[in-house]
Amino acid sequence: MTDFERQPDDVLAELVALREADAPTHGGRVLSYVYDSGLAELDDLAARAARLVQPVNGLDPTTFTSVAAMESDVVGFARRIFHGDASGAVAPADEVVGSVTSGGTESCMLAVKTARDVWRAANPDDERMPRLLAPTTVHAAFHKAAQAFGLGLDLVPVDPETGAPAVADVAARLDADVALVVLSAPSYPFATLDPVAEVAAITSRHGIALHVDACIGGFALAFQEGLPDWDLAVPGVTSLSADLHKYGYAPKGVSVLLQRGRDRQRRQYFATTGWPGYPVVNPTLAGSKPAGPLAAAWAIVQVLGEPGFVRLTARATEATRAVREAVDAIEGLRVVGDPVGPLFAVRADERVPAERRVDPHHWADAARASGWHLQLQPGMVQADGRVLARTAHLTVTPVTDSVVGELVPALVAAADAVRGVPAVDGAELVSGLAASLPGGTAGLAAASAGLDSDTAAGLLGAFGLLGGEGAGGALPDRLAPVLALVEALPGRLTERLLVELLARVVEPRG
Ligand SMILES: *Cc1c(COP(=O)(O)O)cnc(C)c1O
Repeated sequence: MTDFERQPDDVLAELVALREADAPTHGGRVLSYVYDSGLAELDDLAARAARLVQPVNGLDPTTFTSVAAMESDVVGFARRIFHGDASGAVAPADEVVGSVTSGGTESCMLAVKTARDVWRAANPDDERMPRLLAPTTVHAAFHKAAQAFGLGLDLVPVDPETGAPAVADVAARLDADVALVVLSAPSYPFATLDPVAEVAAITSRHGIALHVDACIGGFALAFQEGLPDWDLAVPGVTSLSADLHKYGYAPKGVSVLLQRGRDRQRRQYFATTGWPGYPVVNPTLAGSKPAGPLAAAWAIVQVLGEPGFVRLTARATEATRAVREAVDAIEGLRVVGDPVGPLFAVRADERVPAERRVDPHHWADAARASGWHLQLQPGMVQADGRVLARTAHLTVTPVTDSVVGELVPALVAAADAVRGVPAVDGAELVSGLAASLPGGTAGLAAASAGLDSDTAAGLLGAFGLLGGEGAGGALPDRLAPVLALVEALPGRLTERLLVELLARVVEPRG
């Protein structure tokens, strides 16, 4: 212990104190980000499994063979529940194989990279930038992937009522430069189940790859009855992503990407012998990587099995039904579309007079004041002019079932507290701010073009979002004005300001 500058127990006590300021990860009070099975034994199991492989490097499953065994089991489980397991019935070339990745974003990025490389190989003389075609509701991970891997992102507007794209609109934009179509099962913003089978019938005719992003809901939808086919049971689906660190109840850092066809999947890999070090073969973006999240997910899958997932999904589904019914009964609010899986979004009900309407962002702020964290989603204008309403998002987990009796009254009270309060006027905020800036409105517009970090920090300060010393990472009490700014400011400017905010939060202090 003499090598140590501080006592381990003191350091851990400091971490415990830091953790007390976090949003609560258990108990169902945070309705996004965290997925609580409500089973403390599962969390304990995950921690013990991760501890066992703590020193292992997942980079090399031939040296650390436990990694290969666990990954094979987890991919096998995913392949079975997502109906990629038609062994014997498919040509060997079409067999479904897969990888465990560090999370949904990595699964999505690898699906895009694979599709790009498959498209390149099939179209060696096509000099166009390949296109990624997806509904506007596709997860932002695909924006990131398109940017990282050099594809043009072509977003198909969705019906604001249902949250789904029209099959004909997707079909109309298919061409030989489309390397990948992505649909969600379900979408994050509105929990819409996209028309997978209908689109697959068309893409497969043209030999175009189709990814189903089941990152959020996959491990719940697979255990629900009565849904149309949405997974690898649909022949034209060429890849599928599903996050074990969401409804697989594993700690963060684990997801699965399944691909139809070994030869397709091999394009996901990076390999080189062109340097003087060890030969590199990476199925995923990382080099050295932890085995802990994989071990945790593996152990949870082993312990739960399909029956365990069925029971947990039933609990989350029942809680979702109860909370949805309660929200539907709140005057001034309504659920968006026909959500599938244990999540949904809520918008203002514009069918009632303005003084009876509830702005979902004020509602979320009021709920947060009483300890329930809903997620605020901005409204947006799609390319064809159709407007997606601003919403509050609720991700429901099995543990929610045990707190419905507290959650529902809190949601009702929060709506009562803000009913009739007009939404924050983002345009007014922006013009007020522009007036206080040296360059006025023109200054704000110019700022969108390219901001240095000090100017960006200054703007954040003017918005009241970057306080004095010690502001740390804490959010302001009310998020409705922040989201109103996100809606009203030019997207490029908001993006730059958000980068500044997040970067400043982790800068060394003192
Ligand atoms: C969460 C999510 C992702 C990205 O996953 P991360 O695990 O956050 O990286 C992708 N798609 C959907 C639909 C998601 O919900």
